[in-house]
Amino acid sequence: MKLNDLIKKIENKYPLNLAYDWDNVGLLVGDFDNKIKKVLVTLEANESVVEEAIQKNIDLIITHHPFIFRKMNKINTKDLKGRLIHKLIKNDIALYSMHTNFDIAFDGLNDYFMEVMGFENTKILDVTNSETLYKVAVYVPKTHELQVRKVLGDAGAGYIGNYSNCTFNINGIGTFKPEDNANPFIGNIGEIEEVEEVKIETIVPQNLLQKTIDKMIKAHPYEEVAYDIYKLENKGETVGLGRYASIDGQLNLESLCEKIKLKLNMNHIRVVGDLNTKIKKVAVVTGAGSDMVSLAKSKNCDVIITGDVKYHEAQDALDMGMTIIDCGHFDTEDIFKDVMKRFLDTIENIETIRSEIYLNPFKII
Ligand SMILES: [Zn+2]
Repeated sequence: MKLNDLIKKIENKYPLNLAYDWDNVGLLVGDFDNKIKKVLVTLEANESVVEEAIQKNIDLIITHHPFIFRKMNKINTKDLKGRLIHKLIKNDIALYSMHTNFDIAFDGLNDYFMEVMGFENTKILDVTNSETLYKVAVYVPKTHELQVRKVLGDAGAGYIGNYSNCTFNINGIGTFKPEDNANPFIGNIGEIEEVEEVKIETIVPQNLLQKTIDKMIKAHPYEEVAYDIYKLENKGETVGLGRYASIDGQLNLESLCEKIKLKLNMNHIRVVGDLNTKIKKVAVVTGAGSDMVSLAKSKNCDVIITGDVKYHEAQDALDMGMTIIDCGHFDTEDIFKDVMKRFLDTIENIETIRSEIYLNPFKII
């Protein structure tokens, strides 16, 4: 598959515009026209990961942490980053990063963390954005009206609240003249044709737009399909960072820590607060989320599970009667490999492997 086509699939699910302004996401190194067969997923790419990619004949590395983050003025082999970029290009390996857009997106890192823990009915902790919506209008001959409308509905277009398959349909006359080299479904070369058509209008969220258009074109009988896409001002579903959920109330802080250690395969965990505290509502922010302690408290959460908690943040949490489970930045995010592999495994002709390089810089002795 062409890298550009793979990126389209990834960005339909995890749109770049969800990322924070300061972030650096998308294709950071590579040729959009390259053919991609083998993908390596990793939390980040250091020298060992790039070497691993070369040895395993990888075409594309996908990282969570942006491979290029600070502004670079030179790319040469005297500097580590320059050397790695040089190596990637020399070995025809592309590199794509998905960071805060992946934290925020549905089925991204925070949702996956909740899934691993078995926490259901999750809500967004910090709403950052609303989903972009589009109106799609397509002109279909009467004979294929039902077929195209069904395909649009099956692709997920036309959802308004609890209603699916919403469309508006207007009958009219379509006109066209097939020119030389055309292969018309109706009509003859050089003659103006008039056909009874229906204009079908429906609403599509950004993450389904490309898939919907592709399926619509496939189901449409015409050689050239006439359709319009309008970006709407209507706000779609809200998206944001972190998640929270009510749990059954059977766990206290200590038993929740044990559960996390088991699920994330960890030996140690840092915890702030009384271990006997009953936990009825949990907040999760993967990576560094200690600045969201008071937000979690405002949603009546009993605990926030995150990483990178500093001493004074821990003290402030105790003062406000909040508890924190600090799993570490690495352990809340290394699951990136699992969730990305699960997504990429749904794409035909792409083989995805998890990096075997252990990237946590900290050791506990
Ligand atoms: Zn991170």
